[in-house]
Amino acid sequence: MGAMLRPYEDNALEPARRQMLEEHLCGRGITDPDVLRAMAEVPRERFVSPEQRHRAYTDGPLPIGEGQTISQPYIVALMTQLLRVNRESEVLEVGTGSGYQTAVLAHLAGVVYSMERVKPLLDEAFDRLMALGIRNIHLRYGDGSIGWPEAAPFERILITAGAPELPTNLLLTQLQDNGIAVLPVGDIQEQVLVEIRRRGDALQRTDICPCRFVKLIGQAGWSE
Ligand code: SAH
Repeated sequence: MGAMLRPYEDNALEPARRQMLEEHLCGRGITDPDVLRAMAEVPRERFVSPEQRHRAYTDGPLPIGEGQTISQPYIVALMTQLLRVNRESEVLEVGTGSGYQTAVLAHLAGVVYSMERVKPLLDEAFDRLMALGIRNIHLRYGDGSIGWPEAAPFERILITAGAPELPTNLLLTQLQDNGIAVLPVGDIQEQVLVEIRRRGDALQRTDICPCRFVKLIGQAGWSE
């Protein structure tokens, strides 16, 4: 794996980053070389506060302010692998948060449209993504549970906050036929990560694993 590691800004984080790639990702079934490359290339420490920097590559979520979290690296990699994006893919992400998942997707996809309902988080994410030279993204402030109709349909939809039920309206109106969506669904304490394949007017659901995300708040999510 050594060859795919980029030169690093902070050598003190290097062992933890290597451990993330080898143990927490490869060791748990993240096998897609493109996903591993993206995870190796995006500097996760840029997406957390200075106080959290030393923990940037640990195997868990971290607080990003406003009561929200940056997801665990394994979950980011797993969702990205399940999405199977390529350089042509147009992806809708709901829940920009820190912008970390957006950056990982932007490494692999054609264009990423990402929505966030907490304005300060969106603004910080925008600054981070711009500073990293990531340009194939569009960010929007608002309720992502109703999607981004002007940019639809999307080949892929990724929701990084937990909804009580499948947002079927969003999926049937803004996900392309044969497109894939990945999202957590369930109660507030625990959800199931599901992979959806749209086939015409039907949504085929595959349950992947239990997971825990912050709430999706909005029309197709929880009320505040
Ligand atoms: N992908 C993010 C994870 C952030 S946590 C990362 O890598 O950092 C989920 C985010 O979803 C939170 O920032 C929360 O504010 C946001 N969110 C919740 N409901 C939303 C909605 N309806 N529309 C847009 N964003 C939403």
